[in-house]
This record gives sequence, C-alpha cells and structure tokens, in this order.
Amino acid sequence: MEERVMEMEYCGICEEKKQQGIHLYNMFICTECEHNMIHTEPREEKYQYYLKKLKNINQPTMFS
Ligand SMILES: [Zn+2]
Repeated sequence: MEERVMEMEYCGICEEKKQQGIHLYNMFICTECEHNMIHTEPREEKYQYYLKKLKNINQPTMFS
C-alpha cells in the first residue's frame, strides 16, 4: 500500500500540525481533537475550551 505524503495542517483546537483530520468550515480539526470533543461531557472543563475554539469558526459577518 502506497500513500502520498500528506500535507500537515494546523489544527484549530490543539494548535499543532497534524496530518489527519476534518475540515469544519474554515477550520481544520485533527482526528484526535475530533475524538476528544465527541467524548467530552458538557460538564467537563475541556468542553468549554472546545466551545470557545469552535466559536472561532463562525465569522461574525456571516450572521450580520
Ligand atoms: Zn488537534
């Protein structure tokens, strides 16, 4: 199995360069963070952190 060298992308959540992840609008979220977010309960402190980061996805102008 041969794979192309994938470009590293900057994850908007953990702020590290990762190869694998998803794009959510203009933000790249690595698979680790995606997984972590799914498994974070709203009562956990981390949840607020993710929410804050995710808010950066929406450009304010989109809703004005
Ligand atoms: Zn990440």
